[in-house]
Amino acid sequence: MAASAAASAGASVLLIEGTSRLANKLRLTGGGHANLSHEGDLSAHLAHVPRNPAFAQPALAALDAASLRAALAAWGLPTVADEQGRVFPATRNAHQVAAVLRNRCLSQQVGFRLSSPVDQILVQQEAVTGVRVGSHQITAGAVILATGGASYPETGSDGSGLRLASSLGHKITPLQPGLVGLHVISEDTAPLRGLSLRSVPASIVQQGRALGSRRGDLLFTQDGLSGPVVHNLSLLLEPAPCHAQLHLHLLALQGFDSEQARQVAAGAAQKAWHSLLLPNVPSRLQRYVAERLGVSLGAPWRSLGAAMQARMLALTEALPFEVNVVAPLERAMVTLGGVDVTQVDRNTMASLLVRGLYLAGEVLDVTGESGGYNLQLAFSTGYLAGQSAVATL
Ligand SMILES: Cc1cc2nc3c(=O)[nH]c(=O)nc-3n(C[C@H](O)[C@H](O)[C@H](O)COP(=O)(O)OP(=O)(O)OC[C@H]3O[C@@H](n4cnc5c(N)ncnc54)[C@H](O)[C@@H]3O)c2cc1C
Repeated sequence: MAASAAASAGASVLLIEGTSRLANKLRLTGGGHANLSHEGDLSAHLAHVPRNPAFAQPALAALDAASLRAALAAWGLPTVADEQGRVFPATRNAHQVAAVLRNRCLSQQVGFRLSSPVDQILVQQEAVTGVRVGSHQITAGAVILATGGASYPETGSDGSGLRLASSLGHKITPLQPGLVGLHVISEDTAPLRGLSLRSVPASIVQQGRALGSRRGDLLFTQDGLSGPVVHNLSLLLEPAPCHAQLHLHLLALQGFDSEQARQVAAGAAQKAWHSLLLPNVPSRLQRYVAERLGVSLGAPWRSLGAAMQARMLALTEALPFEVNVVAPLERAMVTLGGVDVTQVDRNTMASLLVRGLYLAGEVLDVTGESGGYNLQLAFSTGYLAGQSAVATL
């Protein structure tokens, strides 16, 4: 997208790729279907960018979801949105996205140089003069660094772009795995393995600080918690040690706050507690809650006693799990952290340290939630960087 935008603005562009094939990571996205973006206007998108949304705003305004879809359609790739608003190519084929972007660049006379990892960005008097690939120097009036993060290094995004930025004085904020499942440390969740919950509200607390809450689907895995709501909460964690408490809000899942739940229970106190507080929760989870409280599943509400009733309301309001991150950065869906955005002009994506250097995509410390927000960020920042880079030539 950056190369195409620069070519559209009149520049002569060379796209340099370290591996032998373009867009390796893009081809893996959305399970091979490429969840490219998400329906919604600028403010809706910004609400799904927990990491540095203010920085991302001008880029998302320059190329929003509707403009991206219109551009892709004009280039021969119509898109569709699913019932959740996630945008995919109509063919659901990520390879086709890569092909359309490549063809677009070819039609604009963008040059390609594959299998050419950039080892150095050449700078003289604080201005870019080109790049070095092995022993070859390539002269350029502007360089756009769109080298991705450090996860899935086999795709080519091996963190070398972060090292290039750092070598020019850019600060790199701490890297950590993002959009990952969480390992449950203390509670035995084996009885819940394989259970999934739809649209459950959950929140995360780290070192006593509430970091935020999200709603979404959740899956109990072999050793912990996964699914979109957990992935999105993982983006809120402070750097290692990522020890935290994840709370599942089971009463809210039933549509109750704790006072409403107390009134419902008191109004039918002869009934079994689980049928009052958790009527729509799967029976395995009802049994799990009963075991954590040490009460029997069918016990009538009034038989529990005031202290147990209070504990039960508290636990069903916020069922806590001690969690941490065990997924290595290499297997994370995104890299949290990257080039410090205070050293980049958000209106142009230009480095504030080196003239003629522009940055775009996941190499920056900007991250979106799951649902297409990261590819949209990569497209939008790439578009803005491409357009702006031409202005320095
Ligand atoms: C399994 C998986 C599934 C995902 N699914 C989705 C999804 O459905 N929707 C979504 O929005 N996001 C998804 N993401 C995240 C998304 O893929 C990334 O955020 C996005 O690809 C980042 O784009 P980018 O252009 O910044 O970097 P990348 O796509 O990583 O591309 C960077 C390119 O730079 C090249 N490069 C790196 N260093 C050098 C160098 N020194 N010299 C030359 N070339 C270099 C790399 O080889 C690579 O081709 C997924 C990620 C993964 C791992």
